[in-house]
Amino acid sequence: MRDSIHVSKENYLKAILEADAEGRQVIPATLAHWLEVSPPAVTMAVRRLKRDGYVLVGEDGIVRLTEKGRETAYQTALRHHLIERMLSEIFGMEWYEIHEEAERLEHAVSPAFEAKLKEKLGEGGACPHGNAVLPETSQARKARGEVPLSEAGEGKRYTVVSLQERDPLLLRFLHRNGIGPGKSLRVLQQNYDQTVAIQLDSGDSILGRPAAEAVWLQARSEVNSK
Ligand SMILES: [Zn+2]
Repeated sequence: MRDSIHVSKENYLKAILEADAEGRQVIPATLAHWLEVSPPAVTMAVRRLKRDGYVLVGEDGIVRLTEKGRETAYQTALRHHLIERMLSEIFGMEWYEIHEEAERLEHAVSPAFEAKLKEKLGEGGACPHGNAVLPETSQARKARGEVPLSEAGEGKRYTVVSLQERDPLLLRFLHRNGIGPGKSLRVLQQNYDQTVAIQLDSGDSILGRPAAEAVWLQARSEVNSK
């Protein structure tokens, strides 16, 4: 658990905006989990955000962004995205190393530096985890022909297109298991206990549901299959 002092207003707002973009609703307990802070720290933070006009909390306990909250959140998400691309594309850092670095640096980006980053990197590119500035809903991804590993077909070959990147521990876990953007894999079996057995170039692996849901795939055409 991190000290609440190290989780800024921007981090809370960004987490809420990302969840919103994925089509999920946010309650304080979810924020506590995602941001690795204690529930009382989240309660205090949400109270401050509400007081300052960044969020509204419904009777159902769901936290929603106001227009002001949404603008601040988007600005932070955009800076995070640009910093990740800078670390990866200019400095060659690996996708599984950059999340925390970007979390720190995103708060230090001035408007002038942001403009420079946009000029250098261009807009609209994907971050090294394969994501745009904001995540998409599962429906939008599926409409494009992508499928999460948790729902991928047995015996089929896939290429990893993107990873849900909210949880740095999950990213390191996936890396240790040989999974990363651009890697190819074959689904061996969707197991009864909701784990999935996969075959990678580095060997076979079994992933549980939370990890498998965070990995988005594109089926490989038969021509490309090994
Ligand atoms: Zn990313």
